[in-house]
Amino acid sequence: MRLILLGPPGAGKGTQAQRLVQKHGLVQLSTGDMLRAAVAAQTPIGLKAKDLMASGALVPDEVVVGIIADRIEQPDAKNGFILDGFPRTVPQAEALDELLKQKKLNLDAVIELRVNESALLNRVEKRVVEMLERGESVREDDKPEVLSRRLNAYRELTEPLVHYYSEKRKLLTIDGMMTIEEVTAEIERVLAAVIAADKSAESAKAAKRKSAAKTSKAGKTVKKAAKVGKKTAKKAKKGTKKGTRTAAKSAKKGAAKSARRGAAAKTQKTARGAGKSAKKTTKKAAKAAKRLTKRG
Ligand code: AMP
Repeated sequence: MRLILLGPPGAGKGTQAQRLVQKHGLVQLSTGDMLRAAVAAQTPIGLKAKDLMASGALVPDEVVVGIIADRIEQPDAKNGFILDGFPRTVPQAEALDELLKQKKLNLDAVIELRVNESALLNRVEKRVVEMLERGESVREDDKPEVLSRRLNAYRELTEPLVHYYSEKRKLLTIDGMMTIEEVTAEIERVLAAVIAADKSAESAKAAKRKSAAKTSKAGKTVKKAAKVGKKTAKKAKKGTKKGTRTAAKSAKKGAAKSARRGAAAKTQKTARGAGKSAKKTTKKAAKAAKRLTKRG
């Protein structure tokens, strides 16, 4: 499963992401955490990001897109991930779409935690107090003046993603003002519906593939049959041609024969006629001779 957690600073994205990690075995990919690690390690990216982060501004799109592109390549992200704090701008969302498309991966849902701003400020102030009480160091950018800049950046650059993902029918909005437990339960409820829809889409796809395979097999058989039929027809045609040729030849032969026979018969008839008339002439001549003899 691949999810995005969307919401302003202090909405509870980090807390809910950790719960999703435990429940679904996904990895949490927080660009904020990665950038803080880069700042601490003083890597080139860290050095670039340090001042921007401290002022509450966003780090350039290409920097965070590069980080995410590398991170989702890692083996632990293969089973799915939760993006926490990324994307934060429309160009980042477009770059993510492209990355997922290239890797033939699907984004299952974008969970928006909706909270009201005054409650957010109270929450973050409370978080700062708790951290100080535990002796932990407070994030530079959680100080009130920086926090209000981060909220401005959210409103201006990140909130358009609500529209972006709702257009893509990926957005699930949850009331982030409920208790942590209630928010978790609500996330689980909406995700169960997404998982069920994914499963039925997957089985529909599998059924489609199966029927496509069957159709192509049937198509092959029909093609084969058509090929055999064509061959037989060709053979038959050839046979008929040959037959016609043979018939014509024998007819010719027969005609010649009968013509010959006719001619012979005619000759015979003529001969017979000639013979007959010769006989007649001989008979006549004999009769005349007899008469002459009698007179003489
Ligand atoms: P976060 O911990 O998510 O509140 O992030 C802390 C700071 O890291 C932000 O105020 C930004 O300066 C920077 N940052 C984190 N994620 C991004 C991002 N996706 N795009 C730009 N800047 C980011």
